[in-house]
Amino acid sequence: TDFVDRGNSDPQITVCVRKRPMNKKETDLKEVDIVSIPDKQRIIVHEPKLKVDLTKFLENQQFRFDFAFDENCNNEIVYRCTARPLVRTLFEGGMATCFAYGQTGSGKTHTMGGEFLGKNQNCGNGIYVLTATDVFRKIQQPKYSDLHLKVSASFFEIYSGKVFDLLNAKAKLRVLEDGKQQVQVVGLSERTVESVDQVLDLIRHGSRMRTSGQTAANANSSRSHAVFQIILRSGAASRLHGKFSLVDLAGNERGADTNSSDRQTRMEGSEINKSLLALKECIRALGRRGAHLPFRASKLTQVLKDSFIGEKSKTCMIAMISPGMSSCEHSLNTLRYADRVK
Ligand code: ADP
Ligand code: MG
Repeated sequence: TDFVDRGNSDPQITVCVRKRPMNKKETDLKEVDIVSIPDKQRIIVHEPKLKVDLTKFLENQQFRFDFAFDENCNNEIVYRCTARPLVRTLFEGGMATCFAYGQTGSGKTHTMGGEFLGKNQNCGNGIYVLTATDVFRKIQQPKYSDLHLKVSASFFEIYSGKVFDLLNAKAKLRVLEDGKQQVQVVGLSERTVESVDQVLDLIRHGSRMRTSGQTAANANSSRSHAVFQIILRSGAASRLHGKFSLVDLAGNERGADTNSSDRQTRMEGSEINKSLLALKECIRALGRRGAHLPFRASKLTQVLKDSFIGEKSKTCMIAMISPGMSSCEHSLNTLRYADRVK
């Protein structure tokens, strides 16, 4: 598509936005869609108070990104412009990272493909599986045969500053930094995978683990970051070749829970806030030589440290936008954050 063959061909950081369609609830409530995507790079939020005559006052908030995906774009298109170019980074021995950022309900999990809720499964077409599919395709290429590459996967969750293994009954894991400043998640499961189906099984298992024991009032998955990693190891010694981290971030609106009357909620909110701020700085530093890298400021940035250093590291962020008027403030916050990451 015309989405792909354009602009900076090999950027270290790509920042995109994706607007999801209005859902039934919003339509039933006769919510107004205040977000428009006039072309493949721009997104405009028409602020409700100015809605009276938009053409006259043109005081809408406009942002420009590497790609802007409207509600008609499917996961395949989003994947092609975001994670797919990073598969090469992984094979070239680099660290690739793709973040889904946005408020709860804006489409992060839908985009990543970590939704496994009974019948309404969004199984095979998210970025997790599309990435794995390309990894298995690419590993067949003759030019990589000398490396004897093996694919494996890990899946964990960071909740309130603690790491839990989604492939091992949510076991709580420690994070250690060794003498060589290498960060280790001690005991994290890493499963060898040989097919897309096996990857799908892991995602399904981990996603179920992620949401188990949750109620509507205790929707923890919106307060945790989920990290799915595809790892390439080479040779008989299984030396780390490259790693692709696909991160479904906590709902950014949770970072504002710092005023909640509930102590636990407040603490979780402040942890989320801290990690998203640190993440922004770490991604920005990626594009700037000698910039300060505050990876120790949060567990999220600490475990992803090796993704923020090194010339071969590449990152992509997809900022998700809910179209409704009631999401206006959150949407603007999301866009301002994404704008700062560039
Ligand atoms: P988040 O993970 O950001 O909280 P979800 O991915 O769970 O949000 O999305 C909320 C709801 O909206 C889900 O039912 C999901 O299937 C639906 N949804 C999100 N994005 C899209 C999209 N681009 N197209 C269709 N439905 C979507
Ligand atoms: Mg989600």
